[in-house]
Amino acid sequence: MPRSKSLSHPVAPIPVKSSTKGEAASRPLTGPRSRLLFSEAQTVIPGGVNSPVRAWKRLGGDPLSIVRGEGAYVIDADRRRYLDLILSWGPLLHGHAHPKVVAAVHDAAALGLSFGAPTPGETTLAKLIRSALPSMERLRLVSSGTEATMSALRVARAATGREVIIKCDGGYHGHADHLLVAAGSGLATANQPDSTGVPAAFVALTASVPYNDLAAVERVFAKHRRNVAALIIEPIAGNMGFVLPAPGYLAALRALCTRHGALLIFDEVMTGFRVAWGGWQNVCGVTPDLTCLGKVMGGGLPAAAYGGRADVMAHLAPLGGCYQAGTLSGNPVAVAAGLANLRLADKRGFYRTHSERLTQVISGLQQAAQRHGIALQAAQAGMMWGYFFSAEAVTDFVSASRAHEGRWQTFFRAMTARGIFLPPSPFEACFWSSAHGPAEVELLLAAFDDALAEVKAAHG
Ligand SMILES: *Cc1c(COP(=O)(O)O)cnc(C)c1O
Repeated sequence: MPRSKSLSHPVAPIPVKSSTKGEAASRPLTGPRSRLLFSEAQTVIPGGVNSPVRAWKRLGGDPLSIVRGEGAYVIDADRRRYLDLILSWGPLLHGHAHPKVVAAVHDAAALGLSFGAPTPGETTLAKLIRSALPSMERLRLVSSGTEATMSALRVARAATGREVIIKCDGGYHGHADHLLVAAGSGLATANQPDSTGVPAAFVALTASVPYNDLAAVERVFAKHRRNVAALIIEPIAGNMGFVLPAPGYLAALRALCTRHGALLIFDEVMTGFRVAWGGWQNVCGVTPDLTCLGKVMGGGLPAAAYGGRADVMAHLAPLGGCYQAGTLSGNPVAVAAGLANLRLADKRGFYRTHSERLTQVISGLQQAAQRHGIALQAAQAGMMWGYFFSAEAVTDFVSASRAHEGRWQTFFRAMTARGIFLPPSPFEACFWSSAHGPAEVELLLAAFDDALAEVKAAHG
């Protein structure tokens, strides 16, 4: 395949054209070069993607092929420029190719890519994380969020000597077998795997309950008396769209877990260092026994972590009998990227400044929806947000699934046509970075107004 020309030539920003609804609906969203690259990818990579969420399956279209990122923007193979609200699904707290992060990666790479022996940077990163999240008394670095949750559950089972785990419908914790139950897709069916290839026996010990439903958790504790090892939850749900916990919900889960001798695991892979310095636990004041991190703490490279109570983490080999390992765990280049990413956020007022800017975007979206008479729910926590085309409050996976799919599709297409890169599914959260400034706020507010006018015209 020829090398993409866009890499060796200056990138011309594509002026954002405003268009009438007929035009936007009929024009392919994806440029010819992206479409060609995607059809080539499909000949060698299943579905043309290395992670299903990247496919535009819901929309029946081809995804953009991205060749470059700069700050708040990505540039696709057709040299079209998009304002990025996906940000690699969370890691890029400072936008694309931040010079400090890139320099840290360069410097680390020049010293060697991997050693398979302890390196000083691992301890520096672990200490920085612990200073931000004191509940992580001991922590292990791994390479992906999936590894973090999988390992946290193993050590929870080891420490409690129990087997059952509780998760929430629509909660996604990576793709480990026993977690693919009602995981943010399909209809929630108790103890039925979401994925083919997962034996029913592997999920028999996983109980899934609706988000924000305490009574359902109590029923599971009653049913599996003294055999619940842990409850794992995204303290803010970000994989069924963006859904906030009801006031008091997380504190009540804490109390239930304590009463029943089960561990509470906060999966902060998405919320960690994104909704606040540390994570949502610092905001809600609820202390989990174990925490999982990923995304922002790797700065765009593969780094993740899990950790918590020292007595629980002491079950891990070589101290204890619970095995977990990784050739590239704590990789020095990934650690350098993560450290640089976190240090950029470790400044007074960082989260306040950028959250306030995002709040302008959310209010603008809500006001535009009101102006056009469209029922919309939008919410934010720190530098993470989401929206549903729904008249009712969205509190769990069922209410998230009731949002208006047609309106969402029209909105997505209209926004993409205006150069805004949004998650290609209504069941994903949206992101924000420190590279998104006042100009990007203005750009978005104008795009919302046009796109919502199209939604109104198409659906009433
Ligand atoms: C992304 C995510 C994961 C999985 O992380 P990977 O690095 O993709 O394996 C787990 N939990 C949550 C909450 C996530 O958002």
